[in-house]
Amino acid sequence: MSEHLNDDCIFCKIIRGEIPSFKIWEDDRTYAFMDINPVATGHALIVPKFHTPNIYEAPEEWLGPTLGSVSRVARAVRDEVKPDGMNILQANDKGAAQSVFHIHFHVIPRNLGDGLTMNWDMVPGDMDEIGKLAENIARRTSDI
Ligand code: AMP
Ligand code: ZN
Repeated sequence: MSEHLNDDCIFCKIIRGEIPSFKIWEDDRTYAFMDINPVATGHALIVPKFHTPNIYEAPEEWLGPTLGSVSRVARAVRDEVKPDGMNILQANDKGAAQSVFHIHFHVIPRNLGDGLTMNWDMVPGDMDEIGKLAENIARRTSDI
């Protein structure tokens, strides 16, 4: 699998375990972990184990399994956090506020009146809370 990864990419390093993450799911093609600047409680990211910058270049054989994991994680986050709704977001290029150039899907729990807009500032979360949530969501993700 490492032949598909990039030495300098932060998400490739997370996949390889070279930098820490709150992992919630992993299979042979995908990896899911908590966003450490959560825009909402339960904000999670899903990536293919294939370094590609965006939706334009991602090979279909990697997108399929990645969306399968997005669905799996979204159900687990829904069951753990019990939001009013859920947005799946995927940004391409700087004009869409993409900041990490390894394709990823955001799972973002939403609540009525939360006032969330499409762009947001990065604000570090409470790592103890994120870690606990990750454990609960990881258990649910495996059970789905
Ligand atoms: P985007 O703006 O769509 O490229 O989103 C990138 C996301 O990656 C942001 O929400 C960041 O908070 C998140 N992020 C960056 N570095 C890390 C990291 N080391 N662990 C978890 N999430 C990260
Ligand atoms: Zn990468």
